Amino acid sequence: MLKNKVAIVTGGTRGIGYAIVKKYLENGATVVLLGSRQETVDKALASLKAENPDWPVEGACPDLGDAAAVEATVNAVAEKYGRLDILVNNAGISDSMPTDKVSAEHFDKVIKLNVNSVMYAIMPAVKVMKQQHSGVIINTSSMVSISGQKSGVAYPASKFAVNGLTLSLARELGPDGIRVNAVAPGITSTDMVAALPEQMIQPMINAIPLRRIGTPEDMANAFLFLASDMASYVTGEVLSVDGAMRS
Ligand code: NAD
Repeated sequence: MLKNKVAIVTGGTRGIGYAIVKKYLENGATVVLLGSRQETVDKALASLKAENPDWPVEGACPDLGDAAAVEATVNAVAEKYGRLDILVNNAGISDSMPTDKVSAEHFDKVIKLNVNSVMYAIMPAVKVMKQQHSGVIINTSSMVSISGQKSGVAYPASKFAVNGLTLSLARELGPDGIRVNAVAPGITSTDMVAALPEQMIQPMINAIPLRRIGTPEDMANAFLFLASDMASYVTGEVLSVDGAMRS
């Protein structure tokens, strides 16, 4: 479904991002995965190469909070492969801090990675995609971008912003042949969720109409669809993949 496509996936070293990278490789794309440290990037690459040594995948770890570093990485990928078809902004951090404990520094950290860094990657990618008159941008939102959450306001605030920029950029960039969508995962069995005690997990499952936690592959399938030509008329969409839990 992604033959000859070149993709960048941020936060591709584990969890949902790793599943997206693998899914894209299985479907014929060339992928550059970004992570926060060289060590985790190398580990992810080794694990992918162990599955299939021929997969065209490489990695880098620019500081996503540094617009110039992100721009340099995006431009290097576009220069090396002569194009950039897909940008997945998946790196993100969660937040559960009650508001009376939140510091400005904490709030800024969540917003900076979940919102600013998304734009830092989009800005140079759009220049490349405009020249091609084609491209797909997919942002990772969250089910809490619909109704918020009980504690940790920075996280839903950041994901509402992700939805806002997704919808707006779809309108702005549609005439340039660029589609912009988001995926809003529900609770997904990444390392974070796997570490929770059983007595916390069961009530979560009971609140999900499909009665199970999502898998990274459930999410990756949505990212595959949105990146592919099967979604050629889908833009400005925030696709919930949450077993109807919403929040
Ligand atoms: P994870 O913690 O397993 O992975 C996060 C990824 O982001 C890692 O690859 C990590 O290297 C990268 N990252 C984190 N901080 C970074 C930084 N400062 N600089 C560069 N990279 C950084 O998380 P996940 O559960 O796979 O989440 C991925 C995305 O899905 C996030 O945007 C998250 O908000 C969203 N999401 C997750 C869930 C869930 O239940 N797991 C639910 C809704 C939305």
